[in-house]
Amino acid sequence: MSAKRDKREQRWRGVAVSDGVAAGRVLRVHSGARHSIYRVALDAGEVEREVRRYRAAVRLSRRQLLALKKRAARTLGEEHAYIFDAHLLMLADRKLNDDVEAVIRSERVNSEWAVKVVTDRVLAVYEEVKDDYLRERSSDIEDVTRRLLVALSGESMGGRRLTEDAVIVAEELMPSTIAELDFTHIKAVATDVGGWTSHTAIIARGLGIPAVVGLRDFYRAARTGDTAIIDARTGEVVLHPAAETFEHFRAEARPGAEASARAVASEDLRAPLLTRDGVEVILRANVELPVEYEWVSRYGARGIGLFRSEFLMSHRGSMPDEEEQRAAYLELARVAGEDGATVRLFDLGGDKASAAHQDGAEERNPALGLRAIRFCLRRDDVLRTQARAVLRAAAHGRIDLVLPMISDITDVRRARAIVEEESARLKGEGRAVGRVRVGAMIEVPSAVILSEKLAREVDFFSLGTNDLVQYTLAVDRGNDEVADWFRSLHPAVLQSVRRALDAARGAGIPAVVCGEMAASPAYAAVLVGLGARELSMAPSAIPRVRRTLAGIECDEAERVARECLECATADEVEERVRVGLGGRWPNLFTPEMLPPPKDKG
Ligand code: PEP
Ligand code: MG
Repeated sequence: MSAKRDKREQRWRGVAVSDGVAAGRVLRVHSGARHSIYRVALDAGEVEREVRRYRAAVRLSRRQLLALKKRAARTLGEEHAYIFDAHLLMLADRKLNDDVEAVIRSERVNSEWAVKVVTDRVLAVYEEVKDDYLRERSSDIEDVTRRLLVALSGESMGGRRLTEDAVIVAEELMPSTIAELDFTHIKAVATDVGGWTSHTAIIARGLGIPAVVGLRDFYRAARTGDTAIIDARTGEVVLHPAAETFEHFRAEARPGAEASARAVASEDLRAPLLTRDGVEVILRANVELPVEYEWVSRYGARGIGLFRSEFLMSHRGSMPDEEEQRAAYLELARVAGEDGATVRLFDLGGDKASAAHQDGAEERNPALGLRAIRFCLRRDDVLRTQARAVLRAAAHGRIDLVLPMISDITDVRRARAIVEEESARLKGEGRAVGRVRVGAMIEVPSAVILSEKLAREVDFFSLGTNDLVQYTLAVDRGNDEVADWFRSLHPAVLQSVRRALDAARGAGIPAVVCGEMAASPAYAAVLVGLGARELSMAPSAIPRVRRTLAGIECDEAERVARECLECATADEVEERVRVGLGGRWPNLFTPEMLPPPKDKG
């Protein structure tokens, strides 16, 4: 098991999703999900060492739980700390530990496998007894199992102190893990899965951190402390770089998006943004993490167009309570100022953490599963708490609420009814409540097809183009195998955007486009041509988009968009965009800002 590791220079290629290049020391971060357990056969001489490894993992887990319990008692009160007692008791359970050690010895296998075998057996017993109390116990068992497996892997579950030059390496980063990392110290990010619109990518771009995703098996090869270079210009990742490679990269290293955005931030970003023919376009900010808050005003964003609230969740998947959320939304309203902030209901499930499934049950098809609004309606206690926090914060600042993944108007009606009930209840309790506009995310084809009707049921639309592309083209946004099919400029996507924008205009409600398309100048120009007048993006993307849109004529963008709508394929649209935008404004749209031409032949 402890074969000597090859420390020669090794290279990987993945999908570059931000800019810049950086070198640093690997910090492996466990995502807490999608953990594959392998069975490793041991030689007779390795068995006792394996048992000791298992015991060390139990001790480490115990120390972590004691620390967590202390913290919970301090911050939440003694009565909330008891949940950790159940986990501590389980770890101390003689029978469980004896069974795991017996499997290691009798089957001569690794601890991970033995833990899985034993805990699966226990879980099977719990599952047979259909009793709510016992079912809760089974999620405790899964939690303890996960903790043991992480301890065995010698990794962090997030929330650890970072050295100055950390390169985060993970299979996949969940919002809750990202939220617990201290991004001021992160040099670069490398993950095995993901694509251009995965959350790792969105965050890394927003923070200007070099990131490469879709590396497939880098996580297994890298160890915490290894040196690695992440080149987000080419998608190349080098593990154990040789001295000359290191020097080469150092000479080439240049700052990422945030730093270059900062360089242009001195332009007057506060004046209204008008195209050359006088059409106003409003640019708002998408934010996830507190480190981004100060950029909202620095880059002249007109408020916060999208707050991905699932980033408030902790790593263990626990929901912030009403007071914590209220404080977070008040802060958001303060940051957003008079233009206000739009809080999206927890968009859990799908690629956004498995918190929706804390009982550990994996969904067969999570993107089509109990995600977003579906999860919120199923767990209406969660929705009610969030609605109350938003309503209360709205008494002191402008806060709106947007419902993610709407596929049926009934979901809108049910969610609105719950918000209204909570508003009435709060008033009954004598609490101040503000007016909260409720909008729908347009990101599922059925919402587009019914957008004229949907527009009469909500106060605004938010077009989530990341999911709209995913669901319209049936292509997993986080799977690099199908990245070639993820075409934001597919004519079906453009027609959907056009239809939703027209529906909003027809009903007299605002529509903001808040997917990643909005953050890319050429795509933003196409969106404006399709009729978008409000775009929301990572704050650091604003200066570039702003400069581009200020240099175009809306009229001309509309002409290009009309031509694109006539196309039959994404290739044809991309060609139209290259010719239409690049040909008309070569200074604004340099070749690397345009979709690359397809190889002929
Ligand atoms: C989208 O789907 O485009 C969107 C804005 O939300 P998210 O990327 O968080 O799904
Ligand atoms: Mg979405």
